[in-house]
Amino acid sequence: MKTKISVKLASRVKHLPPYLFASIDEMKQKAISKGVDLIDFSIGDPDIPTPSHIVEAMKKAVEKPVHHRYPSYEGMLSYREAVARWYKRRFRVSLDPKTEVLSLIGSKEGIGHIPLAFINPGDIALVPSPGYPVYPVGTLFAGGESYIMPLTEENRFLPDFKSIPRKIFIKAKLMFINYPNNPTSATAPKRFYREVIDLALKYNIIVCHDASYSEIYYDNEKPLSFMEIAGAKDVGIEFHSLSKTYNMTGWRIGFVVGNREVIAGLGKIKTNLDSGVFQAIQEAAIAALDTDDRIPSEIRKIYQERRDTLYSGLKKLGMHLTKPHATFYIWTKVPSGFDSAGFVTHLLNRAGVLATPGNGFGAPGEGYVRFALTVPVERIKEAVGRIGRCL
Ligand SMILES: *Cc1c(COP(=O)(O)O)cnc(C)c1O
Repeated sequence: MKTKISVKLASRVKHLPPYLFASIDEMKQKAISKGVDLIDFSIGDPDIPTPSHIVEAMKKAVEKPVHHRYPSYEGMLSYREAVARWYKRRFRVSLDPKTEVLSLIGSKEGIGHIPLAFINPGDIALVPSPGYPVYPVGTLFAGGESYIMPLTEENRFLPDFKSIPRKIFIKAKLMFINYPNNPTSATAPKRFYREVIDLALKYNIIVCHDASYSEIYYDNEKPLSFMEIAGAKDVGIEFHSLSKTYNMTGWRIGFVVGNREVIAGLGKIKTNLDSGVFQAIQEAAIAALDTDDRIPSEIRKIYQERRDTLYSGLKKLGMHLTKPHATFYIWTKVPSGFDSAGFVTHLLNRAGVLATPGNGFGAPGEGYVRFALTVPVERIKEAVGRIGRCL
C-alpha cells in the first residue's frame, strides 16, 4: 500500500518561466556568509520607513472593533473617496469613487488577477519586456498567451506598435503598459498614450496602465496619468500603489481606477477570491493620500541625491546609461565583453556590489543591469569606487 501521494504540479505552474533571481539569491547568500561587505542594489523595495503620521493613523484604527470585521471587497467608500481626491489634486482627473475606484491588496494583486476577468484560453495579452513579471504570469494563469512587446533603447523603451502584426492585435484582449517604467526608468509622452488609445479603440483592447512610480520623479518632470489623456477611461484602467509613493510596500494596499465595466469585471474576480484590505490599513492609506506633497517631495529629494551620485559615478567610469527622470532605478548597459549575468557575477565577486541582471525581466533586457536606488548615498559612493577598481 502507498504511504504517500505523489504530488504533481499543474502545468500552469510547471510552465512558469525559470526564476532567474534564484541563482542571484544563492550567490548573495554565499557572499554574505563569506563575510563580504555587500552593497545590495538588487531590491526594488524602499529602505526608508513609512512616514510616522501614517503609522499613527494605523495605530488608532487598529484599536477600533469596527475594523476587526470583514472589510467590503471593493474598499471602504471613504478610502475610494480619498483616492478620487488624490487623483483630482495630482492629475486633475475626476473619478466616481463608487464605480471607478477599487481597492487592491497591493497593485500586484490586481495586475495578477485582471487576466482572469478578461482572458479566455488562447487569447493574447500584449506584454512589455523587459518588464514586471506579473503581466505574463497573470496571463499564463488565465490560460492566455503573452505577445512580447520589446522595449528597446532605440525606441526610448516604448513598444514599437508598427512591428506588431495585425492578426496579433485582433486576438489581443489586454495590453499592459508601465510608465514610469520598471526596470528601464523610461517615461512616456502624451502622444504615446494617444497612440495607445487609438489602437485600443481600433482593435477593442483593454489597456492596463501600471502607474506605480508616478510619484517618484525628478527635475520637476511630473509623469502623466494615463487617465489624463482624453478617451483613456473609454479603453482602460490604471493600477496604482501606495508602496513606492509612501514607502508602504509591506502594508499591501493599492488601487485601480478607470473604466467602470473593467473595474466591475475585476471586482467579480475579487469578490470570489479575497475579502478586501484590512480596514485599519485603509484608514492609514487615507492618511497617506491626504497628506500634502511635502512628504513625497522629501522622499523624492532622497532618491534624487542617490540618482545623481550613482548616475554621475557610473558615467565617469565610462558606462553607457541615460539619466532617469523617474523611478528609483538606474538601467545601464553592461561593458563590452560581458552579458547581464556575467557582469552581475563579476561585480559581486570583485566589488561586493549586487545589481539585477536585465534579462531577469525578459530576454530583451539582456545586455543591461538594473541598480535600485534603495541604498544610502555614502554606500553608493563606496560602490562606485569599488566598481571603478574592478572594470
Ligand atoms: C512595485 C511594483 C508594483 C507593485 O507594487 P505593490 O506593492 O503590489 O502595490 C507594480 N508594478 C511595478 C512595475 C512595480 O515595480
